[in-house]
Order: sequence, then structure tokens, then C-alpha cells
Amino acid sequence: MNPNISQAIILHHTDYGEADRIVTFLTPDRGRLKGFARAARKSRKRFGAALEPFAEVQLHWVARSSGDLISLRDAELINLRTGLRRDLETLTLAGYGCELTEVLFDESGIGVEVFLLLQAFLDHLDSAGYSVEARLLLEIRLLSLAGYVPHLQHCAACFGPLPNGPVSFSAVADGSLCPACDSGRAKLKIDRLTLGTFARILLTPLTSFADFKLSPRSRQEGQALLNDALQLHLHRPLKTLASLHRFSPIETLDEDS
Ligand SMILES: [Zn+2]
Repeated sequence: MNPNISQAIILHHTDYGEADRIVTFLTPDRGRLKGFARAARKSRKRFGAALEPFAEVQLHWVARSSGDLISLRDAELINLRTGLRRDLETLTLAGYGCELTEVLFDESGIGVEVFLLLQAFLDHLDSAGYSVEARLLLEIRLLSLAGYVPHLQHCAACFGPLPNGPVSFSAVADGSLCPACDSGRAKLKIDRLTLGTFARILLTPLTSFADFKLSPRSRQEGQALLNDALQLHLHRPLKTLASLHRFSPIETLDEDS
């Protein structure tokens, strides 16, 4: 049987038995797959560093008749993205991006846009390192691709206009709420300008990460807004989130910022 060839991003791997490895990876055209790499920890010849998390590779694999694991034959390394290991913040954010992608989408629900988005995110962190902006751009674009982006620029309940200044926001209520529709449901207040900023981010190309600089208020409110929206749609807590919070606690604002 001729092996299939897939471009792939390695999401993570777990050791199996004495020398084997089970590898989870994302492809542009077949969604997320799980493969069995026999003797991957013994034979560096066949796989080398190509199965390390965040690496971009060309995988050769064959389907197996039983079970859901495919069999990995070999892997050619395209890009190890060594820049992601420059510091713990960058490494943690890269891990968070992969885990978030994995938890938000089931195997079959992943289209090529998700692959291109994660690829651009990892490439950006590889060259530019950690930033809150990179995290927020990834989060809102993943929510959008999953079909979960909340109403930002108008009231989620009556579709009417929103006032200037602080606006009530509730992910459970599907987004921003005008004063008449809020009735105390909303946990958060997000400035109208921040809502506009995130609505405009959704109009930018999916793979564009450089040159985004948000104000302290937009960063702080953006984190609160996206945290609220993501909590609603994640079917399990993210392992990487606790580590990430150590680097980017929700920022507090001075009165005049
Ligand atoms: Zn309303």
C-alpha cells in the first residue's frame, strides 16, 4: 500500500510502551489525526526531531484496518520552530494555541482555515515571541471559525444599536446587550471602542499577526471578553491555561487609562 503524504503541524505526543510514540497532528485537508510511531524514541533515523510539538513536517502514513490510529512511516522536518523555545512565556503560549485548537474543534470539524491560522500563529511566535495581542488574535479568530463569535457591534437580543462608553456583555446572552435588554444579566462591561476594535480584527486576514498593538484597555477588556466567550464553548478545562495566567494575569487598569 502506498503511504499517504500529509503536511502537518505536530500538536503533541505521548510515549507508549518501551520505545513507541503516539502523535497528534493537524493537517490542512484531513483535520486532526492521531498516529502511531513505532520505535520513534529508539530510531532517530526515521523521525529525528520531526515529531516534536509545534514542528511542521511532511508525514508519510498508512491507514490501519482496525482502531483509529494511523501508522506513521516517516517524517521529513520542514520547520522545527526553535524560536518558540526562546523563553517559557512563548513556549507556553504556543502550547496554549495548540490545545485551544484541539479542544474547540472535533476531528472532523477542522477546515484548512484552522490549519492556516495555527500555522501563522506559531510562525509569528517563532519570530516575534510572546504577546497578549497574538493570543487575543488567535482566540477571536478561532471562535469565529468555530461559529461562536459573539455579537459585538449591536445588541445580541434586539439587534439594536449600542450606546457609547461601557456596554454590557454576556457570552451566555450571545454578546453585547443594550441597556433595555441587559436587565442585570451581564457580568461584564466592555467599552464600545474595544468592541469596535475586535469587530475590526475579524475583518483582517486570518494569517496576519504582526503590527497589531492594542491599548491597555483593549488588551484588558479583550481578555475578559474572550475568556467569557471561550469558557462557554470549551468542553474541558485547558491544561495550559494555568501556566499562561502566570504570564498574563488579567491586567488591571488605572482609573484614567
Ligand atoms: Zn437590545
